[in-house]
Amino acid sequence: MPIRYSISRFRAYSTMLALVSSIASAQAQTLEEAGKLYMSGQLDQLIAQGEASLRKNDQQPILHLFVGRAYADQNRFSEAIPHLEKSRQAPAGTDGVKVWSLGYLGTSYYFTDQPGKAQMALEECVALNNTQNATKYAQRRLQGYQLLPFYAGWKVVETAHLRLHFQSPEQVPDLAQYAAEREQAYQAISQKFPASLAKKIDFYVWNNKADAKPMLQRELGFAVPEAMLLNARQGQTRGHELAHVLVQHSLQPAQRAKLINEGIAVYLDQTSTNRMQRARQFAQGRADVWRLWEHPEEADEAQLYAVGGALLEYLAAHATPEQFRALLKDQRADANRATLGPLVAAFEQELAKPE
Ligand SMILES: [Zn+2]
Repeated sequence: MPIRYSISRFRAYSTMLALVSSIASAQAQTLEEAGKLYMSGQLDQLIAQGEASLRKNDQQPILHLFVGRAYADQNRFSEAIPHLEKSRQAPAGTDGVKVWSLGYLGTSYYFTDQPGKAQMALEECVALNNTQNATKYAQRRLQGYQLLPFYAGWKVVETAHLRLHFQSPEQVPDLAQYAAEREQAYQAISQKFPASLAKKIDFYVWNNKADAKPMLQRELGFAVPEAMLLNARQGQTRGHELAHVLVQHSLQPAQRAKLINEGIAVYLDQTSTNRMQRARQFAQGRADVWRLWEHPEEADEAQLYAVGGALLEYLAAHATPEQFRALLKDQRADANRATLGPLVAAFEQELAKPE
């Protein structure tokens, strides 16, 4: 998970240090040390020393916050929670201990699949409005994790790996079947791209594109792999956005290119489309793959998706598994030109054949 919450590390440190002078000297020394370790990113050491000190004296809210943040920064959210639950008991004050505890608790609950608790902690952080940065931190997460009152009335249906949210459940003929088909898609894709996700994927099914735009500030559909959530149109393919999430968590691509990133999602969309035929139609028999790869902004979007889907299907069948994985991990054209050049040329010939 490529998530890093370095926000305000320095600010939190300096406000905490302001407190240190008023605290008994042994504790102050521990905190000063913890602050230095946090600032320099020595999180393992901070955790070891912090846990040792807390075993001797548990009544150190600032140290609980440091240790909790260190765990959360390492994506060890279930270990962060008990510390942050202790530091949130601090009275709301200028030091920010309480609000930052609530902010990080919100993140930690979200990534341990406890969205209700995440929402409550983040809302409390915002309501206290104690420090501007903590408030912004919480507001951004309420928005980004879609933990807003707007969604409260949506119908939720859960499967083993998904939590589906329906804007207009009455418009879906069979909710259980709709959910089961998406769960099957998840399982089919994760056979090719196994990933262990920290939470269920929140799968928002919008009925109305016009409602989505002002809420999401983006056009449907799209996935947010880091947050393990996606927004889809009701009639969208069952696999496309799920593929974005699973490929990200399975391979952690370091470099993405639109042709490849969208191509893999089209290839895994779990439809029975003849992708080569569709690409021939959109490309009118001819496509310069390397040009599409390097300059996706020049391409017609529908053509890019169709050619990308056919290309990835072709490469899945003709490249070695190692080449295919390497392509998805580093998707840049230049990184793949030497290994995939002949296959791309063969694909272009295939594409140029009459339908
Ligand atoms: Zn996509």
